[in-house]
Amino acid sequence: MKIFRQILPILLLDKALFLLTAVAVTGQDTSVLELIYHIPVGRDDAGGSANSGNGSLKESVKVNATHGAGSFPDPILGVQSVCETDHCYELAQQTALSMNASADPCLDFYDYACGNWTRSNPIPDDRTNWSNFAAIDQKVTAQLREVLEREDKNDLSTARQKARKLYKACLDIERMETLGAEPLLAFLKSTVGPFPLFDNQDNSWNATAFDWFATVKRTSKFGSGFFLAFSAGRDSDDPKKNILHFSASNLALGTRKTYFDKSSESVRKAYKEYMRNLTLLFLGNGSVITPAIQEQLDEIYDFDTFLAQVSRSEEDSRNISLSINKMTLEKFHGTSLNTTISLEDLIDYIKIRMPNKTFTDLVTKDLVVNVANPDYFLRVHEKLAEYSRQPSKRRIIANYFGWRMAVGYSYKITQRFRDAADEYTKEISGLQKIQERWKACAGFVNYEMNTAVGSLYIKSFFDEASKPKIAGLVKDLRASFSTILKNADWLTSEPGSIWNNTLAFVKFDSNNNIEKLLKENNRSMDDSLAPADVNAYYSPPNNMIALVAGIFQLPFYDASRPDYLNYASIGAIIGHEITHGFDDRGSQFDGEGLYTNWWSAESRARYTVKSAEMMAKYGNYILPEGRVNGFLTLGENIADNGGVKEAFSAYQLYSKRKGMVEPLLPGFESYTQEQMFFIGYAQVWCGADREKSLRLSLPTQSHSPRRFRVIGPLSGMPQFAEAYQCPAESPMNPSKKVAVW
Ligand SMILES: [Zn+2]
Repeated sequence: MKIFRQILPILLLDKALFLLTAVAVTGQDTSVLELIYHIPVGRDDAGGSANSGNGSLKESVKVNATHGAGSFPDPILGVQSVCETDHCYELAQQTALSMNASADPCLDFYDYACGNWTRSNPIPDDRTNWSNFAAIDQKVTAQLREVLEREDKNDLSTARQKARKLYKACLDIERMETLGAEPLLAFLKSTVGPFPLFDNQDNSWNATAFDWFATVKRTSKFGSGFFLAFSAGRDSDDPKKNILHFSASNLALGTRKTYFDKSSESVRKAYKEYMRNLTLLFLGNGSVITPAIQEQLDEIYDFDTFLAQVSRSEEDSRNISLSINKMTLEKFHGTSLNTTISLEDLIDYIKIRMPNKTFTDLVTKDLVVNVANPDYFLRVHEKLAEYSRQPSKRRIIANYFGWRMAVGYSYKITQRFRDAADEYTKEISGLQKIQERWKACAGFVNYEMNTAVGSLYIKSFFDEASKPKIAGLVKDLRASFSTILKNADWLTSEPGSIWNNTLAFVKFDSNNNIEKLLKENNRSMDDSLAPADVNAYYSPPNNMIALVAGIFQLPFYDASRPDYLNYASIGAIIGHEITHGFDDRGSQFDGEGLYTNWWSAESRARYTVKSAEMMAKYGNYILPEGRVNGFLTLGENIADNGGVKEAFSAYQLYSKRKGMVEPLLPGFESYTQEQMFFIGYAQVWCGADREKSLRLSLPTQSHSPRRFRVIGPLSGMPQFAEAYQCPAESPMNPSKKVAVW
């Protein structure tokens, strides 16, 4: 272990790992291991000379490059050659169809590149938005269906067979109808116990017998963890290790703002309506919402609002220093929990969730844990103490448990329950239609068994030949980011040491598993990746870029199109992930993944000024659905701006090394490769959102709306203004180019 740590900095410099598939192994299925690829990038032989030799286009371009240097005339291709394959004609057509060529690229480049996209791509009835991302996602879902429905008697992988079974069970609506609501009601009885909202029609609910802490213990086994939720995650003082993190329970309406923002009023109204409808279904035929029932529903809602009130705001949640509060269990108990439970209770409660004796032995009063928000626990437990002292108020807690569990599982029973949920979803999102069951099931199985499903997907749809080429691309991106660091004259620290020492911290949404507690974090362990997703990740503590197999297709990547388009799309995405290590949060973690201030005061002060400019720039972007939150989107905006800049210079590196001019697409002969690069970048983001869902998500979104992911970064790049010869002070060429990196 020690050796590994010592050589880590070298690994960081020379071998950023590039992972093509997820590596978490589901169950004991070792055959999944075959599908793990680590590609070291940065070794001389890995990237630059990598030539996948895909297709004749590349070969003819190479010929052309030699001739471009003036040795002898090229009978096929001129200097500004045009790619004349059928494929290139098709690509050219798609590119042109998305564009609004009559728009002025210097006024609004999103309109120029994507202006006609929405016309030919209406939002499907079952989606809240539609974009190139969403289209691939849909395609991957259809591919998943294909592999999940395929019978394969020769496939001996138990994990893959289980995934197929799970998919089948998910689709078995008939059986769900036969069973009715009974399984859920029985489950509620055994976890929550009786609760007044559903079980008090004959006044039999006994308030004095209700023990809220016993209910917390029973429900915590199902991952709910009300009022005392915890999971295993990275230790901020030692990123190789994991500790327990206590954090606020999730809210019924998802985000805190939804409870208070004026713009979410319709959502709150729809949720209250859903509460009534679902309650009627649970109470059965002939039931009505009496004033007594309505009173209880109001109490549940108000209690949830209280929990939202004491939860941290979305803005404060971005502040890492607020969420790092390491303390012993004894201290945690004394600080936040002593109004409700004893220290022994707390220890017992944690032990219940431990998988075996080795783990339970760890749980003593001296166990160090992190408490994300001690004040939240203090206030929630004070409230619980207050309510449990009064029998009339105990029902609020009992009903809260019952309601949240019932609502959480109600989608898994009969059609009538799903209909109620679907009505609510449509109301708040603007959806016209709920997606077909098979799509939901494919998504569900992919989520629950990501590795098994991913291996099925990769076997059938992933093109192995892409790997070396992408590895080369990653290498160029790293090199260009290093140059950006070296040229950042406002940094006072020695540039080499910045790359050397900098890693960031990404908290993945993963099904955190207590067993992590005794495992050392390493590059091959990341259970948050689903290979059959359409996404990319940067895991700075591992210095690892993970590009998920689903992303290796148009418009992100295509081995047989000119590479300026690949650098513009997948290249910018890789650059985006690299830059996250240096965004407002990532830059606060050092080379070992430690949360520490390793910057000079001067550099940090300048970084803060640059960040504030970025915040102000995006905070001024307004759509009819609302204003962009410049603070919550800061990290993603820094990554977007850095990503496209790195991709652009990485392409310059690449074409210089190749000594060639790549061909243009037919019909685009009057464009330069640089201009095409920017069109390629912008077109990744063509898309549209339903008004309701955008209005709902905008106040809490961490990503800027698509149009600003184009306009924002490109208006900050002198290379863009130059490529399109934009007049000074035109909207896409302001004299003040806001940039962090
Ligand atoms: Zn990002």
